[in-house]
Amino acid sequence: MSIVDEIASFLLERNRFLITSHARPDGDSVASQLALAAALIQLGKSVEILNADPPPPNYRMLPEIDRLRVGRRAEGAFDASIVLECNNLERTEVENLEGYPAVNIDHHPVNDRFGVLNWVDPSASAVGEMLFHLFRALPLRMTPEIAANLYTAILTDTGSFQFSNTRAETFRVAAELVEAGADPGRVARDVMMNQSESRLRLLARLLGTLEFDTSRRVAWITLDRRMLDETGAAENDTEGLVNYPLSVDRVEVCAFFREIDAESYRVSLRSKGDLDVGGLAQQFGGGGHRNAAGLTAEGRYPEVRDTIVRELRNLIETSNRDHGEPTN
Ligand code: AMP
Ligand code: MN
Repeated sequence: MSIVDEIASFLLERNRFLITSHARPDGDSVASQLALAAALIQLGKSVEILNADPPPPNYRMLPEIDRLRVGRRAEGAFDASIVLECNNLERTEVENLEGYPAVNIDHHPVNDRFGVLNWVDPSASAVGEMLFHLFRALPLRMTPEIAANLYTAILTDTGSFQFSNTRAETFRVAAELVEAGADPGRVARDVMMNQSESRLRLLARLLGTLEFDTSRRVAWITLDRRMLDETGAAENDTEGLVNYPLSVDRVEVCAFFREIDAESYRVSLRSKGDLDVGGLAQQFGGGGHRNAAGLTAEGRYPEVRDTIVRELRNLIETSNRDHGEPTN
């Protein structure tokens, strides 16, 4: 039996589910959880969605968004948890999940396989794409609401079908979702063109922090807590802003430093082509994909920045050496 069929049987045999995903959820985690909740409810199951942090505000129009509950401890009588987009249970930042058998559904290349069932497919563009196949294996009707959520998960995790995780299969699934009632224009308007004014003002401030190394191939932007206060933006307004430095022609890798406190920073990394920032993030105790990864670094800003920029520069030089290109 395939893992997809195993998970389908597991879900059909049980009744009460806790759905969760990573802290500081993004479009894939939010919309995939909502799609899964709607699917399980259609199957007559009882479902709770619990996340450590609230969804970014631009997802407020998603069907079933009110089902999301914010909390940091799992409690209640559940037959199982379903954990989406997490390479380990700690990424949820929800306590007490160890008490429930977990179904682990993820598309990160490195995953701790913490579940009783583990389905990890790094070739999938988004967990939303994986759920599409799971729903096929269940006696389910693909409603326009479920389709819209799965489409949103794929749209956001592929950067609107731009990132290298976009494959022919991604478009096939997206096409089926559109046939099932997902409306691309409406989703774009509801999700992409529904950001807060303060997010744009924060972007303006952030772009003012843009810096490059001497090769101009590494770029970074930096957020300190004051900028959030000054613009009125929330922590979860920052999703996607990391990508802006990559729009510059010579830039091959970029970093987004976010102050947690004076001694620790959350670092998001993005790259073009073969440069593997996921491997780099892992060396620092973080993780992610080849072209999109993250980590938390301890230390004051100048040290953290210098270390990460040096590693990014090394990454480019090592890759150029492998491909026999000059480094400057
Ligand atoms: P972000 O930069 O937060 O948008 O994350 C980019 C990718 O890296 C996502 O796939 C995340 O799940 C992953 N990621 C970010 N931070 C971490 C971390 N501390 N540990 C493991 N994976 C991470
Ligand atoms: Mn994802």
